[in-house]
Amino acid sequence: MTAAISGRDAASGLVLVLNSGSSSVKFALVLPGSGERLMEGIGERLGTPEALLRIQWFPAAALEERLPGGTHRAVVARVLDQLAQTGHVGSDLLGAGHRVVHGGERFTSSVRVDEAVIAAVRSFSHLAPLHNPANLAGIEAVRDLLPDLPQVAVFDTAFHQTMPPHAFRYAVPEEWYTRHGVRRYGFHGISHRFVSEQAASMLGRPLGELRLVTAHLGNGCSATAVRDGVSVDTTMGLTPLDGLVMGTRSGDVDPGLLSYLAGRTGMNVGELTRALNVDSGLQGLSGMSNDMRTVARAAADGNERAQLALNVFVHRLSKAIAGLVVGLQRLDALVFTGGIGENSAVVRGLVLSRLGFLGLAEDPQANAGHGRGTRGRISLPGPVLALVVPTDEELLIARDTARVIDPDTDPDTDRDTARDTAGSRRTTDHAKG
Ligand code: ADP
Repeated sequence: MTAAISGRDAASGLVLVLNSGSSSVKFALVLPGSGERLMEGIGERLGTPEALLRIQWFPAAALEERLPGGTHRAVVARVLDQLAQTGHVGSDLLGAGHRVVHGGERFTSSVRVDEAVIAAVRSFSHLAPLHNPANLAGIEAVRDLLPDLPQVAVFDTAFHQTMPPHAFRYAVPEEWYTRHGVRRYGFHGISHRFVSEQAASMLGRPLGELRLVTAHLGNGCSATAVRDGVSVDTTMGLTPLDGLVMGTRSGDVDPGLLSYLAGRTGMNVGELTRALNVDSGLQGLSGMSNDMRTVARAAADGNERAQLALNVFVHRLSKAIAGLVVGLQRLDALVFTGGIGENSAVVRGLVLSRLGFLGLAEDPQANAGHGRGTRGRISLPGPVLALVVPTDEELLIARDTARVIDPDTDPDTDRDTARDTAGSRRTTDHAKG
């Protein structure tokens, strides 16, 4: 059931990566050097009678069990139990790495979890009320069940803490920022950071010299300007509702619509915000689906609403990418990632066709050839390139965890091998997604 561990991985150990959402916990047992997964799974529909736990060990052996009313803690307990049964706990398990959505202005990099970190993450719960409490539930479950296991928090906001004030401040009353923390924080930082590093290695150039726009296009979508390796601007803001059109989220709207619609419909701010989060985006425009595959197929079949949804998505994305170049003053590469960015040649082609003035030109054959976990260039050769780079947030979390726990390890050196291994596994993810 356990895979053979290479020399350096044996030295650096295994990392249990946990991504706790409001009603689910995703987890993976990762070798940070090679990126190989020994196990992965999900506990979902937590807190309901239908709660279910699924664990897949590689190369084989699967476990599925019902956990009626199961909580985050119940899932973590079962996963740790499995690790103990397979002999990992107490031997090669280096630590647990947690995705934490909001680190406020305090966390600019990944940190070892202690009581002060737990308190700080809790103090940012008002900024991410669905996510931070769930992230903490995972951290506290591991702390209570295996108190000696080192834990590391890897923040979705940390990468964007390098943004300058002119990019992160909103033009609103000063007190909203100083007293209430109203500013652009940005999200998807783990993914933007991972694909920037990958892009640099693919281009064979130091990240510190590159000017990139990274477009993470999944169910949530955001784009980031990465200058010399750091985020200098991004489309998501105080919340992940800001910026690009997404599956069910509107992205940017005129904030005046809240009072306008409240007056016309009697809906309150909470109801309107919910509609902007769950009934908008591709779903709202197309009236059929939040899934780009369904929308793009219907558009190709002549469905006008689907065509409009696709057009708005692409227009807003292209406009945002061009706007982000202002913070870069030069573009070396545009990077596509996330389920849509990695798989939709149609979206990528439409975006590139609108950005020719930046020096981007689609290579149609290369573009059509990329999807399902493969990476590479999709533009014609030239000074400005477009790349597809599959993201792997779990791998970045595992590497940060190993590095924070033992600063002498350098789990990054196998970057390309890791990508190839993990990339082939992500093929399965997208096939089922
Ligand atoms: P999440 O943000 O939840 O991690 P993903 O990154 O998997 O989600 O992205 C989900 C999105 O990717 C959905 O809109 C889905 O339609 C889109 N997607 C997945 N495969 C394809 C494909 N072959 N063509 C177009 N879109 C795709």
